[in-house]
Amino acid sequence: MGLTVEFRGRRSLFKPESVVQAVSNVDLTIEQGETLAVVGESGCGKSTLGRALLRSTPIAHGRVEFKGRDITRLSGRALRDARSQFQMIFQDPYASLNPKMSIYETLAEPLLVHGATDRASIRPQVLDMLSAAGLDPSFAERYPHEFSGGQRQRVAIARAAILRPDFIVCDEPLSALDVSLQLQILKLFTALKQQFSLTYLFISHDLARVFGFADRIAVMYLGKIVEIGTAADLYRAPAHPYTRALIAAAPSPNPHRDIPPAAATLRGDIPSPANPPKGCRFHTRCPQVMDVCKTREPTMSDLGNGQRAACHLLTQPPMAG
Ligand code: SF4
Ligand code: MG
Repeated sequence: MGLTVEFRGRRSLFKPESVVQAVSNVDLTIEQGETLAVVGESGCGKSTLGRALLRSTPIAHGRVEFKGRDITRLSGRALRDARSQFQMIFQDPYASLNPKMSIYETLAEPLLVHGATDRASIRPQVLDMLSAAGLDPSFAERYPHEFSGGQRQRVAIARAAILRPDFIVCDEPLSALDVSLQLQILKLFTALKQQFSLTYLFISHDLARVFGFADRIAVMYLGKIVEIGTAADLYRAPAHPYTRALIAAAPSPNPHRDIPPAAATLRGDIPSPANPPKGCRFHTRCPQVMDVCKTREPTMSDLGNGQRAACHLLTQPPMAG
């Protein structure tokens, strides 16, 4: 609730300490068993949000609760224990696997670290998890370099799932893969979710890719959530100009969808999060910008069915003519 993550620049004699709010006052509830996608351009704070929820980056203000328990200030052993219930999967499976560890060791390690007492059960657990991740259990003695990118991502996913976590943050897990592999890995995420009752926060820069996969989608811009709703509602009736621009920018826009042409272009660069524009942070790039947008920050409007968006157009439509 009201989660803010700040990065502090160095203070010097000539320069006051600079504070970059990578995530600014975000309110987000993730229901058990759902897949919530967080979408936005690079640098919008979505990875930082994911890390903050897992308590792997410091939190400046606000609170993170997990299953009703406040985990914002946990440390030491209590934090380690809580962390066994959540996992993170990264974009680059090459970097997230230790090249010196066999696949067996890679999957057995989290079980050992989190105190598996019955050592005899480790081997069958590892082999079962490899099958569940679509890998031949006979691969167990091989090393990461012997696998393709897609297979390595399967190993990383198996490693994340082996502790039977409740919640997995998937940080752009498809970005390093080609399109046909992306679809296979999405299928794997869906299958594992059903098999192990997982909840996902799925971070992506590709809105089109998550429509058929996520239950709900949160769209982020410069550290703020600008729109959130079910995937179906955002697909049918995106309310925020930024969401509409992301949809229009997708490689294969659906010609049957009714997106106002004014929203079709996303111009200009993303402003620096160190110095976000006043008023609506999107106003420097918004095709529908009004005067009020430059000075007053829009608040979230409730659009029904849990869909919310922060845009002045929703509270004060532009004057006709
Ligand atoms: Fe565009 Fe104004 Fe809405 Fe921001 S508040 S998205 S600038 S119309
Ligand atoms: Mg990122």
